Amino acid sequence: MSQLQSLRGMVDLLPEALQRWQAVEAVAREHFQRSGFGEIRTPLLETTDLFCRGIGAATDVVGKEMYSFQDRGDRSCTLRPEGTASVVRAALQHGLLSQGAQKLWYAGPMFRYERPQAGRQRQFHQIGVEWLGAESARSDVEVIALAWDLLARLGVGGLELELNSLGSSEDRQAYRAALVHWLEQRSEALDPDSQARLSTNPLRILDSKNKDTQALLKDAPTLADALSPESRQRFEAVQQGLTALEIPFRLNPRLVRGLDYYSHTAFEITSDRLGAQATVCGGGRYDGLIAQLGGATTPAIGWALGMERLLLVLEASAEVDPEGRAAGLVAASLPDVFIVNRGVQASAAALALARDLRGNGLVVVLDDSGSAFGKQFKRAHRRGARWALVLGDDEAERGELRLKPLQQSGEERCIRLDDREALVAILKSL
Ligand code: ATP
Ligand code: MG
Repeated sequence: MSQLQSLRGMVDLLPEALQRWQAVEAVAREHFQRSGFGEIRTPLLETTDLFCRGIGAATDVVGKEMYSFQDRGDRSCTLRPEGTASVVRAALQHGLLSQGAQKLWYAGPMFRYERPQAGRQRQFHQIGVEWLGAESARSDVEVIALAWDLLARLGVGGLELELNSLGSSEDRQAYRAALVHWLEQRSEALDPDSQARLSTNPLRILDSKNKDTQALLKDAPTLADALSPESRQRFEAVQQGLTALEIPFRLNPRLVRGLDYYSHTAFEITSDRLGAQATVCGGGRYDGLIAQLGGATTPAIGWALGMERLLLVLEASAEVDPEGRAAGLVAASLPDVFIVNRGVQASAAALALARDLRGNGLVVVLDDSGSAFGKQFKRAHRRGARWALVLGDDEAERGELRLKPLQQSGEERCIRLDDREALVAILKSL
């Protein structure tokens, strides 16, 4: 019988990786709490209509990437491809916005039918924030700083913040007309995808990965030239705010989100350590979305970062700087104690000892192979334990155990098995 496999692009997370994930999530959770963002959890499955209205039928996500199906009640359902639409739906459904602005964060799996490659999966995970009711330029700065500082706290290096302004919807309408006019005169030079977008989603052409299209676009009219004085002023205020916080950024006039309810600030945080899938975090202002989903016109801004890509840059950062925070997070799961034990009496005493030490908050590996001490010691080193405790029948007979530091130099010593207080104090001292 052939071996069963997970679906393409659907990835198992095994214990070793999950410890890193949980360390990252713990930092993120605390980070959001400090800034007054509350967690929200929404269903993985929503009506297809939510995403058609909330992301837009002209986008790749809705047009090509959704996992949609009819359920047994013949409703069209979709596995969520992103978090924003669901968060806004939930806020409207529960009347949260009538209580004032809402600062929310979420974490969890998203589903997109894409071609799997490094940093790109069909089930992937995001951590994101949405600040509903945030209007000022300062809120843009605060939200961007929230992402930037989280990545800094995690010790991720080599990051670049790219920034653009999409202006108001009037600015964009004028710009869209100018861009389409310019591109139509050169449409034979466009790649087929971009040709199709000329009528459906022309702004998205700016984002094309096609080299020839990119070269052509160098001379195209830019969004920056189309901004009204008010929009320009707002964009400048955001830039000044970031400068005041000493957050470096690079203006990227090609950075766009294709849909009308996006406006003003758009940003991405990229890493030079990721290869082709360089964007770790993307976000921006979506002042038109809440009205689009049936609420009162409410300004809002948010971002989402990809966990898989974050973990890739975190591991790369840990390698570059073995003493840094990233390395600390990656290594956070090493055991405190490895109990080397062999013999009938010793193994019973070792189990009781392991239970006791765990009860005192220590992470304990109890070897259950019964193999030679040398072999067990090798395993203790491989696991990266800080201490080895050695318990053979001789030691058990004498009511003693031997204690040896593995990560630092230091003599092996003996200690009474029943003096748990002294033992715990020593184990916690390193
Ligand atoms: P990309 O251009 O890489 O497809 P996107 O613009 O589709 O990204 P967003 O919808 O802005 O991405 O999602 C925010 C973040 O989620 C991305 O920056 C990325 O880190 C992550 N992400 C998006 N799609 C995937 C995927 N298929 N697999 C893994 N991570 C993803
Ligand atoms: Mg994508």
